[in-house]
Amino acid sequence: MAVPELLRVLLDEAHLPWDQAWDITRKTLAYTNHTLLPEALEKWPVAWFELFLPRHIELIFEVNRRLLEDVRRRYPNAEGRAQRVSLIEEGGERKVRMANLAIVGSHSTNGVAAIHSELLRTLTVKDLAEMYPERFSNKTNGITPRRWLLLANPSLAGVITHSIGDGWITDLSQLHRLKPLADDSGFRDAFRRAKAQAKSCFADWLKASGGPVVSPDTIFDCQVKRIHEYKRQLLNVLRVVVLYSRVRAGQRVTPRTFFFAGKAAPAYRFAKLVIKLINNLADTIQRDPVANKQIKVVFLPEYCATLAERLIPASDVSNQISTAGYEASGTSNMKFMMNGALTLGTRDGATIEMAEEAGEENFFLFGLTAREVADSRAWYSPKWHYEHDPEARMALDLIFQDHFSQSERGLFAPLRKTLMEDGDHYMHLADLKSYLEADGRLCGLYADPDGWTRKAILNVAGSGKFSSDRTIAQYATDIWKVKPCPIP
Ligand SMILES: *Cc1c(COP(=O)(O)O)cnc(C)c1O
Repeated sequence: MAVPELLRVLLDEAHLPWDQAWDITRKTLAYTNHTLLPEALEKWPVAWFELFLPRHIELIFEVNRRLLEDVRRRYPNAEGRAQRVSLIEEGGERKVRMANLAIVGSHSTNGVAAIHSELLRTLTVKDLAEMYPERFSNKTNGITPRRWLLLANPSLAGVITHSIGDGWITDLSQLHRLKPLADDSGFRDAFRRAKAQAKSCFADWLKASGGPVVSPDTIFDCQVKRIHEYKRQLLNVLRVVVLYSRVRAGQRVTPRTFFFAGKAAPAYRFAKLVIKLINNLADTIQRDPVANKQIKVVFLPEYCATLAERLIPASDVSNQISTAGYEASGTSNMKFMMNGALTLGTRDGATIEMAEEAGEENFFLFGLTAREVADSRAWYSPKWHYEHDPEARMALDLIFQDHFSQSERGLFAPLRKTLMEDGDHYMHLADLKSYLEADGRLCGLYADPDGWTRKAILNVAGSGKFSSDRTIAQYATDIWKVKPCPIP
């Protein structure tokens, strides 16, 4: 809306001619895209504009008339392209394509991780990127190390400052100086003690605030983020149900506490049912005298930044398991990495760049790539996995035969419909097996505390790129063209 509004102010209030108003508007505005999900790439009905913002829609139509004139001149006999770049979606109810408007009416468009910017440029708005290639760039997200390390994790921050000084606080790239210390047994001990301290601090807080009692001697395995089908909390649930089935079959698993947290949008029924399933799973396991010695599931309510600041320093494992190609960047992935958790994740969003920085051998990556997800859509069959993967079938049968809903029969039938009848759009079943394999390797490493701590240190040492200081400096230099203002 900044595009038509700034144009309106310059035309109607400053009385500038069109070309000058348009030029100032474009030079002033820049667009950061945060998602490729079609339900979030907004399309606003023309009818709403006509009712509430008649002058703005008039200006949008004029911008579009000039745009399409230009397209037809530059690409004659390519009516398909004109229709695709148009600011107005025709056919059925006419709608304004807000992302196209933002790209056409600004001087810069960027995504928030390398893979996301690439998909935006080559798939989502391909035609516009071909017309204006110089406008497109990437700015990988970051997080502030002052909040997410210095403030949230005083024990680890202290260990880091003790060994490399406090320059990292305003220049996070200095964390790379921790790399050689991964082979220093004294540093590894101090690093391990800091993690143990953060875990018992969190366990004490959780108990004191009325939550469950959790044991810091177990692996703290976390997935905390908004509940959404593409983020695949349900895939994590399937992993836990498989581990629970193994325990029921007499196997032993590495003692673990699985933490989930995240809010669901008010009308998002699927997301709320996933929360219900996590809570029911937690209850069933708690009541099983054999399983509850090895597995505990905790759903922490009211997820917010303050809870994240408490939990993330205490975590050993970060689950970043979105269907590849759907998570624009993610930022909790960076918070966990900076606090010495190991990542179990798909090759999606900024997780790809995080693994590049720390070395893939220090990550537990699994599952289909974005290309493989796109290429297998046509023939992917969740039922094939149900029929050919005994552990997947066991887990699904437990859920759908009401093992976790004995007094609420049929409660989880909508999940069955999503996964089995409606084609499992987010391909949970395609990635379950490789998720469990990666999880097995991770638990194997946990039995080797030195090997584990080495990888955790190399993760912290490789997290320097993911400071928001770096991101903001790139926006300042490349997009805003502003220089730092030094404070004496
Ligand atoms: C960091 C953070 C997020 C973003 O998490 P993702 O896993 O990247 O989606 C969401 N909510 C809160 C409270 C956060 O602190």
